[in-house]
Amino acid sequence: MQNPSLLVLPGDGIGPEVMAEVTRIIEWFGDRRGLRFDVEEDLVGGAAYDVHGVPLADSTMEKAQRVDAVLLGAVGGPKYDALPFEVKPERGLLRLRKEMDLFANLRPAQCFDALADASSLKRDVVAGLDIMIVRELTSGIYFGEPRGIFPDNEGGRVGINTQRYTTEEVRRVARVAFELARRRQNRVCSMEKANVMESGILWREEVQWVHDNEYPDVELSHMYADAGGMQLVRWPKQFDVIVTDNLFGDLLSDVAAMLTGSLGMLPSASLGAPMENGRPKALYEPVHGSAPDIAGQGKANPCACILSFAMALRYSFDQGAEADRLERAVETVLGRGVRTPDLMQVEGKAPATTRGMGDAILAALDETA
Ligand code: NAD
Repeated sequence: MQNPSLLVLPGDGIGPEVMAEVTRIIEWFGDRRGLRFDVEEDLVGGAAYDVHGVPLADSTMEKAQRVDAVLLGAVGGPKYDALPFEVKPERGLLRLRKEMDLFANLRPAQCFDALADASSLKRDVVAGLDIMIVRELTSGIYFGEPRGIFPDNEGGRVGINTQRYTTEEVRRVARVAFELARRRQNRVCSMEKANVMESGILWREEVQWVHDNEYPDVELSHMYADAGGMQLVRWPKQFDVIVTDNLFGDLLSDVAAMLTGSLGMLPSASLGAPMENGRPKALYEPVHGSAPDIAGQGKANPCACILSFAMALRYSFDQGAEADRLERAVETVLGRGVRTPDLMQVEGKAPATTRGMGDAILAALDETA
């Protein structure tokens, strides 16, 4: 049998530093768990611009379309700020998302016990929290036409954006949410504003249709997105999977992220339609950017990128038990007080370097194998 394939794109700033730790972990799974990947590495963002004059070469795009999953570090940095819009590092990432048609963005909000005190909410509200926000990523108000700023009839101007969803756009992201729920606590909460938006009524009806016809075994509830925001900070543990549109998902996933402490801990996945082998097109990446303020200093927290690889194990490679193993190793290390400088420090312990955090996670993995 062929090994599953992985395209690794470290990118810019702290991207290569955190990805170096992920690469060691990928090798650990090959050596110790017999889980070997065919790994190719390539350039994205400013690093690709420096070599190819574009933030994503066509050859890299072809590889991304061919592999089972793409793992990306981060792109961007002050060196590239003055570049024309079309070749800015972020365009490389956007091209990947667009051409792979990654319509479902998965943002878990998981609060490791050892970090519960770093949340802005009370410990008992967030300790043990584990929710998943599924945001529609390629349609809705960020893409709908007409859009623009136009003169109005009174000598002023009017700014227009259009919220637009089709049946299939809603159904396909709903299916991703229901599939995820079946691997978790089997509950989906769909959020929209059906009380004031027709697109919200359509959203609610189509999610209900997918439920009734394809996933009747999953518990489905509906909530208005504003009430959902309130509930997320009041008692987030009531949720398992939340599915919502592009705009509300943008806001709600950031709210949920802050429940859990540091940007350096947050992974994400963006999934598309299933490929011939049944696996979805997939891009895994930390939520954070290239952090130029700490790049090259060994201060970056590699956990978000490592946890993104754990998501790849779970959602692209059907290795849920190995993903659990990796997440538990991260949790163990945090529990031992190993912390990069972005995390709340444990008294009497010196902050860990990026490499030190990687070493500690590998050691914790060794204890499980
Ligand atoms: P950022 O996420 O890079 O950094 C925000 C703050 O969080 C910084 O103080 C940084 O030091 C800290 N931080 C981020 N990740 C960390 C980690 N793993 N460990 C420890 N500390 C961490 O956001 P920014 O400063 O607004 O943007 C910097 C650059 O990254 C810009 O060029 C921006 O366009 C780009 N960016 C890229 C992505 C991406 O690649 N997906 C996302 C956001 C921003």
